[in-house]
Amino acid sequence: MTAYSLLILPGDGIGPEVMAEVRKVIDWFQTNRGMQFDVSEDLVGGCAYNAHGTPLTDATMKKAQAVDAVLLGAVGGPAYDNLDFSVKPERGLLRLRKEMDLFANLRPAQCFDALADFSSLKREVVAGLDILIVRELTSGVYFGEPRGIHADDNNPDNEGGRVGINTQRYTSGEIRRVARAAFELARKRNNRVCSMEKANVMESGILWREEVQWVHDNEYPDVELTHMYADNGAMQLVRRPRQFDVIVTDNLFGDILSDAAAMLTGSLGMLPSASLGAPAANGRPKAMYEPVHGSAPDIAGQGKANPIACILSFAMALRYSWDEGQAADALERAVEKVLADGVRTADLMGPEGGTPVSTSEMGDRIVAALSAA
Ligand code: NAD
Repeated sequence: MTAYSLLILPGDGIGPEVMAEVRKVIDWFQTNRGMQFDVSEDLVGGCAYNAHGTPLTDATMKKAQAVDAVLLGAVGGPAYDNLDFSVKPERGLLRLRKEMDLFANLRPAQCFDALADFSSLKREVVAGLDILIVRELTSGVYFGEPRGIHADDNNPDNEGGRVGINTQRYTSGEIRRVARAAFELARKRNNRVCSMEKANVMESGILWREEVQWVHDNEYPDVELTHMYADNGAMQLVRRPRQFDVIVTDNLFGDILSDAAAMLTGSLGMLPSASLGAPAANGRPKAMYEPVHGSAPDIAGQGKANPIACILSFAMALRYSWDEGQAADALERAVEKVLADGVRTADLMGPEGGTPVSTSEMGDRIVAALSAA
């Protein structure tokens, strides 16, 4: 078999610590499941700025374009807060997303039974929750023109005299491609998509609804499609979140809804994500996987970080880049087993207390659970 190519970018703060645990998981799959990974590693963010004066070199960008998948840890930290905007660590991330044209951002919200009490909602509302939010990532109001803050010269009634403008703009092509991504994902899950917009008050919402419906009717009639206004969607997410399977929505609503859904599941240290682009010549989508959390400078270097978000991001790579769904399931089950056994990093300690395990011990326990299955 040909090796799966993976570029690892650990980044800053706890990034390298959590990535070291993913390395153990990759080694396990190579040794025990006959998979071959062609892994390379490089710098991104503050560490790349220290070494090269830029948060992402052209050479690293080229490597990212050539591999099946990029796995990123986290970037940033107080040492870089005062850098010029153009070389801030986050610019490295944005460049990767932009140049790889990663238009579909996948944010799963999955509630492991052992952690149901960590949710801000009642256990019976979230236990067994497993939903996937697909957010359009490269267009919409964050990118639309015209934009800016201008003098509102001819308007004497405007106290302050300025106007701030952003433009919500979507082409049918942009909507269709993210809708296709959502329908494809639904086919690998429970075959249901709920599309969210504000077609009641926004023309771009009307177009969104029509185009998603068109893709459904012409290409995915086997998938169940429903539409919901995004404000109702927000309400339903906290009222009865298990009614959803895949939610597809635009950049702005997706930003907000995915953060709300994240909190249903408890700790930031548990949340993976994926950003996918168009399929390359080999049929695999351009892809970058990363935990939702940042570089956590407050705990960096102390062995306290929870590596599960990064490990679950690798599980997403197995599923979405290499179609290794069984391996991804096995890895997620290993995480679930370790949590059910009461193994906790410090961020997962409940009021009942106990002794937390280190980042490295959590990785070892997950690998041991893989072996024991
Ligand atoms: P953060 O996610 O780094 O941390 C928020 C809180 O959650 C902290 O108390 C931290 O200790 C805790 N936390 C986060 N991940 C954890 C883990 N895996 N295990 C245990 N605890 C964890 O967010 P922040 O403090 O707002 O930002 C810190 C730096 O990270 C900033 O420079 C910010 O710009 C950057 N950042 C980067 C990304 C990214 O790389 N994608 C995302 C968000 C923030």
